[in-house]
Amino acid sequence: MTARVLDGKAVARQILDDIAAKVSARIAAGKARPTLATVLIGDNPASATYVRLKQRDASGVGIETEDHRLPSATTTEQLMELIDGLNRDASVSGILVQQPGPDKIDMARVVLALDPMKDVDGFHPVNVGLVALGLPGGVEPCTPAGIIELLERSQVPIEGANAVVVGRSNIVGKPTAALLLKRNATVTLCHTRTRDLADHTRRADILVAAAGRVNLITKEMVKPGAAVVDVSTNRVDGRQVGDLGPGVEEVAGWLTPNPGGVGPMTRAMLVRNTYEAEVRRRP
Ligand code: NAP
Repeated sequence: MTARVLDGKAVARQILDDIAAKVSARIAAGKARPTLATVLIGDNPASATYVRLKQRDASGVGIETEDHRLPSATTTEQLMELIDGLNRDASVSGILVQQPGPDKIDMARVVLALDPMKDVDGFHPVNVGLVALGLPGGVEPCTPAGIIELLERSQVPIEGANAVVVGRSNIVGKPTAALLLKRNATVTLCHTRTRDLADHTRRADILVAAAGRVNLITKEMVKPGAAVVDVSTNRVDGRQVGDLGPGVEEVAGWLTPNPGGVGPMTRAMLVRNTYEAEVRRRP
């Protein structure tokens, strides 16, 4: 078997086109243009690249972007002052604080300072709580929301499926498990203390690999026909690779390319969250 492609790039394009049409319709109706404020602290080149791509995607659909750059010497208090100003600024629909920030910044306090309605990353505890409880109104974090959207638009059945998520981080593993559960999958969350990882992964109709470990998931660990989502962005010789070993594409039924799978979906979800934040605040 050769796996069908879970084409994140193509699906992200559809989502962005759809939002571009909605933004145009709002402008034509005399409403304000949505605005995404990005905040980048320090001079980490990878973070700068991520922010640039996010801004490009947002402006591509007609969302205004505001670029806030702070030196690495910025204190948590100074950053929180900026956030406070952006919270109060009626023209700002969504705020993205690029992570990781410099070590000395207390990101947990910064995230708590965000207006949950403008928290387009979905990291504020109010949003985390609503998503964990399966209640409406919470902002879903971008990577997990992108994974679900990609599975659904590719017609991968989620209801009743055995879904195994490898990795239990707050930004990927746990919320992905919560969103799969909300769609009635039977979910197993694996981590470094899981006994016999392969025993779990081999039962997965949907396998989400988000451990950040090269070659962790070998083809013997994949159930024939499974939908496999390779989230990780490991670097090997300057190239991005995920967690999958060679030959998984011969066993899986669906598979995300990496790159070109989850990454574009994550960025599309940020754009969607920004648009939706604007619509929620000023319908
Ligand atoms: P993280 O915070 O480092 O978490 C990794 C998780 O994987 C942890 O829960 C860890 O278990 C688990 N794990 C590590 N080695 C394992 C093993 N051998 N067996 C079973 N579980 C193992 O990473 P993250 O932030 O969730 O990100 C995961 C990967 O996704 C990274 O490569 C990251 O760059 C990538 N990512 C990609 C996107 C995208 O848009 N494509 C977005 C976000 C993240 P413990 O909890 O027990 O330590």
